[in-house]
Amino acid sequence: MIPGPVEVSPAVLAAAAGPPPGHTSPRLIEAFGRSLELLREAVQADASSQPFLLAGSGTLAMEIAAANLLEPGEGALVVSTGYFSDRMAEILRRYGAQVVQVAAPVGAAPAAEEVRDALARQGPFKALFATHVDTSTGVRVDPEPLCRVAREAGVLSVFDGVCATAGERFFLEDWGADVYFTASQKALGLPPGLALLVASQRALTTRTLRQAPPPPLFLDWDSWLPIHRAYEERRPSYFATPATSLVMALEVGLDELLADGIDARVERHARAASGMRAAWKALGLRQVPRSEAETGNTLSVLLYPDGVDAALLPKVAARGVVIAGGLHPAIRTTSFRVGHMGYAVTRPDYLRRTVEAVAEALRELGVSVDREGAVAALEGVVRG
Ligand SMILES: *Cc1c(COP(=O)(O)O)cnc(C)c1O
Repeated sequence: MIPGPVEVSPAVLAAAAGPPPGHTSPRLIEAFGRSLELLREAVQADASSQPFLLAGSGTLAMEIAAANLLEPGEGALVVSTGYFSDRMAEILRRYGAQVVQVAAPVGAAPAAEEVRDALARQGPFKALFATHVDTSTGVRVDPEPLCRVAREAGVLSVFDGVCATAGERFFLEDWGADVYFTASQKALGLPPGLALLVASQRALTTRTLRQAPPPPLFLDWDSWLPIHRAYEERRPSYFATPATSLVMALEVGLDELLADGIDARVERHARAASGMRAAWKALGLRQVPRSEAETGNTLSVLLYPDGVDAALLPKVAARGVVIAGGLHPAIRTTSFRVGHMGYAVTRPDYLRRTVEAVAEALRELGVSVDREGAVAALEGVVRG
């Protein structure tokens, strides 16, 4: 139950465990092509958008967005809500961008008006970057008003959905967003190893109009466009070897999560999150995000109660549940994190065992908690 890599479903596990197909084998071509189509559906993108699917982690997807959209000297505004927003800013700086960060205190997200003012006063900017759910603070931004202020200012909007995709609503087309990127091992509920990205037509044109020297070959959309178009037309192609076993798993995983539509999947995450929050409250635990609206569905970032520290984690692990310590520098030793995303949200028994394990571990550390009350609070929202 760490915030990624997460547990995967039995069907995904089976799909990843088969003999690795070749990159031109018919079943790989079908899985690749269909995955691209399903990715558009997962982020509600129109047919003119281009999904990309590369071997790598979420950080590679961040690099790809920066490398293709920014030319040296251009302005990038980063909406900072935690550790991963700060990483995005660092990546952008390395591509020569002039980075301005609009930050809020740990646990909060900057207001859209503040971002609009910064876009107007501190530019010119080429693009706005925001982390949909930051895994170090649990803070969720509302992408829609950010897309709106970006459009009004004539800048591209780019979202890091690594810890959000399929766990939070996102409408790339309707909101006029330009890039949504993600990775396989978090909210998508797949094994680690794939960097995924959906780019709008406007984002693709930005790359086409680039004046500066091209991005590194592996990161360049132009290297991958013909290959992705070929796969979508179910033709063999090659630029660099895809992670074929993971692509087989991706198709199965996307099929599973879209089986009842993306709304149903997001709703399932929202319900699991609300059940876990009810349980934490019953245990007397406080969360890092400052308001419901700023709290992501996919994980809980909680403060240790008085007298408790990271010694909690091995006590939880001894009960068969693995959770994670703090990540954001300001709350690294005072917070811990519990993922509830991907396959786990389809398993009320996992959620219950997690609440029980945390409650029992707290008790062992001398905190008086109501284990049964917490389970009842969870099950009042998520029924087993
Ligand atoms: C995990 C994460 C990343 C980085 O992904 P890796 O796969 O670890 O490289 C980026 N952004 C967010 C929001 C994340 O949760």
